[in-house]
Amino acid sequence: DVLIRFEDVRKEFRNQTVAVDDLDLEVRKGELLVLVGPSGCGKSTTLRMVNRLVEPTGGRILLDGADIMSTDAVALRRRVGYVIQNVGLFPHKTVAQNVATVPGLLGWDRKRTRARVEELLTLVGLAPETYSKRFPHELSGGERQRVGVARALAVDPPVLLMDEPFGAVDPEGRRRLQTEFRRIQSELGTTVMLVTHDIDEAVLLGDRVAVFSKGGIIEQIDTPLRLLSQ
Ligand code: ADP
Ligand code: ADP
Repeated sequence: DVLIRFEDVRKEFRNQTVAVDDLDLEVRKGELLVLVGPSGCGKSTTLRMVNRLVEPTGGRILLDGADIMSTDAVALRRRVGYVIQNVGLFPHKTVAQNVATVPGLLGWDRKRTRARVEELLTLVGLAPETYSKRFPHELSGGERQRVGVARALAVDPPVLLMDEPFGAVDPEGRRRLQTEFRRIQSELGTTVMLVTHDIDEAVLLGDRVAVFSKGGIIEQIDTPLRLLSQ
């Protein structure tokens, strides 16, 4: 069951850098697909084309069968969550207000929002009574990253894009966060595309790993580790 399909996708930036060329890729519903490879080979560009932060210059990308370029960008981003390294939490908003950002934009009422915020903070391992009213500067790097994940999941998007999501977390915290995230993802059934340059992370997290080399995928691997641990 394919949710996202890249067909012969190309991205050439205005300065004539060809970041992605001839890319064909299928992402199945509910899977966690890792894009791994050295820096500069086109992983982030591939990811950012899915929510139209970057527009392809060739080929097309289908989400649930529909060309994303003929989908309204705002509607698209409601269905496609995005988490990046260092998260970009709003510094003057509390943890709860950060998580409530998209529900707020969608006009959810207070009661529904509050319940959802509590549910999500609990899901990512941050007790709401302790963390709701804190500000981002009162959190550790790992805690901030958890808030970023909770915020991205607030309206239960079918697709989540993650670009080096655990990169800023210390090595010890990172392993725990990775394991917990994998549990959350299986539980929710969210389809995830995750970019990393860390091969251990790729093998630990991925249902499938797409190995990038300059401009595209050179190999796709069904990863045994995740299967073994289930
Ligand atoms: P990765 O995520 O694998 O590190 P990127 O997708 O970020 O790679 O970059 C792929 C290539 O495209 C690199 O050569 C990079 O310098 C280039 N690139 C990325 N973004 C832009 C941009 N906005 N303008 C021009 N070139 C870019
Ligand atoms: P405001 O006063 O701007 O409405 P609040 O800080 O009271 O902001 O809340 C912002 C959002 O976060 C609200 O939608 C609220 O439901 C949610 N929220 C606030 N505090 C909590 C909390 N302790 N637990 C769960 N959700 C909360």
